[in-house]
Amino acid sequence: MTKETFTFQAEVSKLLDIVAHALYSQKEIFIRELISNASDACDKLRYESLTNPGLTGGSGAYQITLTTNKKAKTLTVSDNGIGMNRDDLVETLGTIARSGTQAFMDTLTQAKAAKDKKKNGANTSDIDLIGQFGVGFYSSFMVAERVEVVTRKADEEAAWLWISDGTGEFTIDETTRDQHGTDVTVYLKKEDKEFLEPQRIKHIVKTYSDHIGIPIILAGVKKDEEDQTLNQASALWTREKRDISDEDYKEFYHHVGQMWDEPWLTLHNRIEGVISYTNLLFIPSSRPFDLFNPERKAHLKLYVKRVYITDNCDELLPGYMRFVRGVVDSEDIPLNISREMLQHNPALEKIKKALTKRVFNELKKKAEKTPDEYAKFWDNFGAVMKEGLYEDFNNRDMLLELARFRSTTQEGLISLKDYVERMPDGQDAIFYIAGEDAEAIAQSPQLEGFKAKGIEVLLLTDPVDEFWIPSIGTFEEKTFKSATRGGADLSAIGKNKSNSDAKSEDGATSDGGPDNAKVEPLIAAFKVALGDKVKDVRASERLTDSPVCLVADDGDMDMNIERLLKQHNQLSDSTPRVLEINADHALITKLAKKAKAAEGIDAAVEEAAFLLLDQARIVEGEPIADPLAFSRRMAAVMEKGLGT
Ligand code: ADP
Ligand code: MG
Repeated sequence: MTKETFTFQAEVSKLLDIVAHALYSQKEIFIRELISNASDACDKLRYESLTNPGLTGGSGAYQITLTTNKKAKTLTVSDNGIGMNRDDLVETLGTIARSGTQAFMDTLTQAKAAKDKKKNGANTSDIDLIGQFGVGFYSSFMVAERVEVVTRKADEEAAWLWISDGTGEFTIDETTRDQHGTDVTVYLKKEDKEFLEPQRIKHIVKTYSDHIGIPIILAGVKKDEEDQTLNQASALWTREKRDISDEDYKEFYHHVGQMWDEPWLTLHNRIEGVISYTNLLFIPSSRPFDLFNPERKAHLKLYVKRVYITDNCDELLPGYMRFVRGVVDSEDIPLNISREMLQHNPALEKIKKALTKRVFNELKKKAEKTPDEYAKFWDNFGAVMKEGLYEDFNNRDMLLELARFRSTTQEGLISLKDYVERMPDGQDAIFYIAGEDAEAIAQSPQLEGFKAKGIEVLLLTDPVDEFWIPSIGTFEEKTFKSATRGGADLSAIGKNKSNSDAKSEDGATSDGGPDNAKVEPLIAAFKVALGDKVKDVRASERLTDSPVCLVADDGDMDMNIERLLKQHNQLSDSTPRVLEINADHALITKLAKKAKAAEGIDAAVEEAAFLLLDQARIVEGEPIADPLAFSRRMAAVMEKGLGT
């Protein structure tokens, strides 16, 4: 076969352009990335050879070798791992194979768009992002004039030479290699020859790759010079806790979790018992980019007796803990288990139960001891944890205890227990309002009455809230009740409290409830005018300042759910809503008088009905049905208001 030339996928070219011109201060991380790939390649082969022992062909122990050549200015990272064939090469070293790199590109595009918008405001530079995402193999082009990859796949005869200078094209040609594995040779740019210095290399490996479980060897250069092993070459999680520094943990977390932040929580335990295993788990301090991908992929690596089995084992923690990174290494799972057989393995089920409990307990401790730190965790992952409320019946109580919320009367985050403890006499429901933005929903007219009476309302802004609330129903026997639904009987609440916030006798929101008789004729007129555009028209108990608002009738779909479903094109029809009117509002009082005086239909009252309904929709953030008619009516009212 002759040499073939390929062009990089457009995204890769873009990435390479950024990488090559980045004045990134930590160029050294390319060594970490190449070692990480070499280590992955050895892990893969180790796994494959469990079922196919012939694969390794007696190649001996796994190792990663670094070789320098000062004259040629090359640094080579070699491994005796799985290797790549021609198709693998085309697929992985010409496209953006890894999701982290894709996320980097997406973020870059977004950051750029934001920058264009703000002109001089952007503070995330491309450079920071390289560090944040780690761009894998392509990071070698930060220091390389040219990269050559010689590789041979285990169990195949042919070897391949991949060459690129990182500017748009790469070539693949047939070559030879003694055994399976890969050599990545980086031809260093003149200004980057520091990466040929043994001291520099040793320091880099020690800093970033000490946790790698197989030996990383620096080959002697001169004849009498010995090879040196640069790392401890024992899997980090097998070491004693006291021998592991925070830095070691962090670098391991970066490697295993493909995350670039500080771990928020590190859980390292060795369990000896009926089922023996070691877990080294991390909770990130920032949100991973793929948190809300529909696949809900786990990011836990499963090892059996130090042999890597799989890197997204779903059977170790429930889906709502998918933000947890790390490894679990078990002694009690058969080594020859296939990935497919993991699903109903009783040992794994036991481990899952224990790990879930361990994570819960640690979270509980954090919530009690360091609520501010816990609040950061909840801001990042609360929306995910809440999925457990309808998925995991057995852990509901724990999840309800751990859940935190914003509310109308408190700063920061509160628990349901806090809320219930603060409930005044006469309140038997946990009130909430759901929507996209906490600040916006806190201003909703439906909350006016609650505010006036000092009744706390939870502000729910995660789409998942619409799922768990109906499935949970109650907390400590108090029903969850939407502030935008059904009749809101606030009159009984706080009656017995000495410092009651309830309005005094002359107010319509006093204990007697609104004075409905005054507005009966208006309600009748509105009903006639609006017809089936509304489900009903009622006097409101929840309004104090606004003239009208919309609420969902009991039994009807919640307004926020309807909005969510429409956003996702799951719903096209709208449910007619109840228009509530504020009998105390000056405008309503005037309209009520007019309606009472009118014999039959009053044109001004009819126009007002339409305008007020549209107004209520606008406040809800909903489109108005007929914008033209709305502006015609609005203009007419303004004209009238100006007099002659
Ligand atoms: P990632 O390691 O996150 O997948 P990289 O950009 O570092 O992303 O590598 C891309 C892919 O190239 C790897 O997933 C792997 O398939 C392949 N690869 C890179 N280096 C090696 C190697 N030394 N041996 C085998 N495959 C490799
Ligand atoms: Mg990699």
